[in-house]
Amino acid sequence: MTEKIPQILILGGGFGGLSAANEIRTSLPSSQAKITVVDKKNWFMIGFAKLWIIRGTRTFENSTGLLSGLAKKNIEFLNEEILGIDLEKRNVKTTTQNISYDFLIIAMGSVLSPQKIPGLIKNGMNLYDYRESEKIHDKIMELKSGNIAISIMGMPYKCPPAPFEAALLIDSMLRENGIRDSVKIHCYSPAPITLPAAGPEISKKILDLINSENIIFHNSCKIKSVEPNKLIFEDSEAEFDLLLAIPPHIAPEVIYESGLAKQDNFISIDRDCKTPYENVYAVGDVTSLKVTDTWAVPKAGVFAEEEGQIVAKRIVSKIHSSEDTTLFDGKGGCFIESGRNTASLIEIDMFSGPTPSTKITESTTGHLDEKLQFEKDRLKKWL
Ligand SMILES: Cc1cc2nc3c(=O)[nH]c(=O)nc-3n(C[C@H](O)[C@H](O)[C@H](O)COP(=O)(O)OP(=O)(O)OC[C@H]3O[C@@H](n4cnc5c(N)ncnc54)[C@H](O)[C@@H]3O)c2cc1C
Repeated sequence: MTEKIPQILILGGGFGGLSAANEIRTSLPSSQAKITVVDKKNWFMIGFAKLWIIRGTRTFENSTGLLSGLAKKNIEFLNEEILGIDLEKRNVKTTTQNISYDFLIIAMGSVLSPQKIPGLIKNGMNLYDYRESEKIHDKIMELKSGNIAISIMGMPYKCPPAPFEAALLIDSMLRENGIRDSVKIHCYSPAPITLPAAGPEISKKILDLINSENIIFHNSCKIKSVEPNKLIFEDSEAEFDLLLAIPPHIAPEVIYESGLAKQDNFISIDRDCKTPYENVYAVGDVTSLKVTDTWAVPKAGVFAEEEGQIVAKRIVSKIHSSEDTTLFDGKGGCFIESGRNTASLIEIDMFSGPTPSTKITESTTGHLDEKLQFEKDRLKKWL
């Protein structure tokens, strides 16, 4: 009789899921473990490529890799929606089947929830939704004058520098179109500083960077609703001609139904990425990992990727009947483009001391090249 091999089920084929699947497969051949990745999308795109589509230097087609590419590594890809997770019965329900697992990795990311803000869907556009990127590009190209509002509508949100980077890239488009002096760019945030996730010093540098391009930052603006051409905050109002929103983020509904997180929260994990259920792990944006009472690990691909690797090592060692105890180290970097063909690298070490340590480099063409390489490396390695 042939021995049953462990079934490793990975929910989500984004940063965390792809990193975990590939890491496990490099250590375990298909004779030692079956790996299945489930995703309702059949492609993967690095988040920042959306901003390049808005900028007009990319298209959706030339920014995505197909998840069917996993097959060549003997990783099964199931292009279906995840409808339920039964943690007691160790079973996941998808559109057409029930899949049982020995190990489960939940890497389902966060969901954008524009419907939480009254009037937003009707009166604004979603900066983070790939389906709107090309339309946003067209709207910016049509603009002759007025106010562009980039509004962060909830915390935490993915890639904290991205709204400011979007503002800088839009600034460059307007300059190229010769209309920069006729259009004001405003960034609104509920936070008191630009990048609370990176601390006050980096926040000041980001503020100086956007101010140097005449981008105006409005802090502590807590959104209540959106009306035609008007943002309604708790204590003020602001007019706009084009609204680009970063809607509140929540976890996918099945996470709440499974009981892994309370409504509107994320799955609480520690640096071992374990959940209370044996052999069930959670990584990336679907989780919340507190560093101190006031700091949490930001929602970013680099962190989802590393958490995926940590979990992969733990699963491989369990299958080999040993115990890997490596913890997520919380070190990562994220590029912010200046809109002048350069980029800076923001580096964070979340667990370096009583509070995380952060630094930002000069903005150079070298870092912009590294950003392009970051994307190329992952698409090549994972798919
Ligand atoms: C504009 C922008 C710029 C960014 N720039 C950077 C950057 O420079 N650096 C960086 O590190 N990060 C960046 N990010 C953030 C990064 O994209 C996310 O943090 C990262 O994708 C999180 O990885 P994840 O695996 O947790 O989730 P995701 O990559 O979002 O993957 C989750 C997957 O789960 C699938 N899924 C969810 N629910 C279901 C369901 N019910 N059924 C089936 N499938 C489901 C989704 O389709 C998705 O493919 C950026 C994001 C944006 C929007």
